[in-house]
Amino acid sequence: MRVFTASLATETNTFAPLPTGLASFQVDGTFHPGGTHPAAMSMFAGPLHAARQRAQQLGWTLVEGLVAAAQPGGTTTRLAYESLRDQILTDLQAALPVQLVLLGLHGAMVADGYPDCEGDLLTRVRQLVGPGVVIGAELDPHHHLSAAMLSQADLLIAFKQYPHTDILERAFELVDLCAAQVAHGRRPVASVADCGMAVIVHTTRAPAQGFVQRLQALEGQGGVLSISLTHGFPWGDVPDMGTKLLVYTDGRQAEGDALARRLADELIAMRSALDTPWLGIDAALDAALAAPPGMVVVADSADNPGGGAAGDSTFVLRRLVERGIANTALGPLWDPQAVRIAFDAGVGARLPLRIGGKVGPLSGVPLDADCTVLALQPAMQMSALAGTTQPLGDCALVQVASADGVPGVQVVLISRRSQAMGTDLFTQLGCDLGSRRIVVVKSSQHFRAAFAPLAVQVLYCAAPGAVTSDLRTLPYRHIQRPKWPMDNDGV
Ligand SMILES: [Zn+2]
Repeated sequence: MRVFTASLATETNTFAPLPTGLASFQVDGTFHPGGTHPAAMSMFAGPLHAARQRAQQLGWTLVEGLVAAAQPGGTTTRLAYESLRDQILTDLQAALPVQLVLLGLHGAMVADGYPDCEGDLLTRVRQLVGPGVVIGAELDPHHHLSAAMLSQADLLIAFKQYPHTDILERAFELVDLCAAQVAHGRRPVASVADCGMAVIVHTTRAPAQGFVQRLQALEGQGGVLSISLTHGFPWGDVPDMGTKLLVYTDGRQAEGDALARRLADELIAMRSALDTPWLGIDAALDAALAAPPGMVVVADSADNPGGGAAGDSTFVLRRLVERGIANTALGPLWDPQAVRIAFDAGVGARLPLRIGGKVGPLSGVPLDADCTVLALQPAMQMSALAGTTQPLGDCALVQVASADGVPGVQVVLISRRSQAMGTDLFTQLGCDLGSRRIVVVKSSQHFRAAFAPLAVQVLYCAAPGAVTSDLRTLPYRHIQRPKWPMDNDGV
């Protein structure tokens, strides 16, 4: 069998201030033109990684196209989307004829003039290969499920876990189900149920944990091939945004429709219980100080670069400094300029530093403070999800003096925007997490895989930011209404 694979991914926060241009994709170490992807898996190259293994086992010919992924940010430029899309189509054209196309996509990419990039890409792939070739795609569950995506792809499978620790497992399911379709020629039948809502689904706790386990138990039973939960990405203002259930069966449309609807209704019934227990900044810090001895992790979700925020906001940092709370750490904070200054000053230097608050109003105002440079590391890599790594660029650990002069919060400054995923973000720079009372991370949920096992408590903080937890404050213009919790008074 001859198989083609490629990846194109970013998660677009249409409310975020930073545009996502071509340079955001063409980053050294994460941009892989056709045939150049390294041996280690990257986050959106699960299908490529799984197909490599199957190709070796089963004697397939695998043609690898472009793999490009950008850190989530604001709307992708038209030039970036069209040129990357066209590169994938050129790679595919050169690979023809193929029997199977496997794509690694995010599913929430929005470009100027393209509210549904994945629907557009899949449509063009279909036009190129024709109706007889099997097309499958792996998605992030924070995608917008569109009619074009459903009709043009034979099979779509989303990661089930959030944090997304199951990238490779879902990729193998996709590859094996698609290969089975090539072998027997029967197209899976899709059933979709819309929940009329947008919820954050943390699969690390009840009730979502049990719900996802039940989805997995249903797969392989009674003709059910695959079930994906579209969480949706509420910070993308597009018509297809929302939480949905996607069931594929082996031709049983009516049963699939009924199952998708039943599961959607179950999820609707548990939506209040799914809600994240948000605390304001001071309430979160108070709760952390009142927790049993040990490290408390506070997630600054609203400034999560993984949701498209700048990652340089100072709202939580400022309160840590103003309150003079000892033994704290915060990271990563994206400030390449401050990193440059810290590198010039050198380890051990004490200097006035202006930190963060640079991108726009949602970043707050910069924090000016006396800082001591504790550690520097060029081109630092962080452990990320499912065995992948994330480049952070040149990084500095600085200690910010509190207003009364006592050694205060230790801040990890990074040059390449990223959310917190691995604890080595701190430990590589010598920040000992075991001795920290409070560790503030810029991340919504992915931090949890590595940090939660070390923490006595995890708290979710509702600070201002581009990934605000209060969806009712977002100025939507394109989503379908009504939608919970933006409408219906959240009931
Ligand atoms: Zn996601």
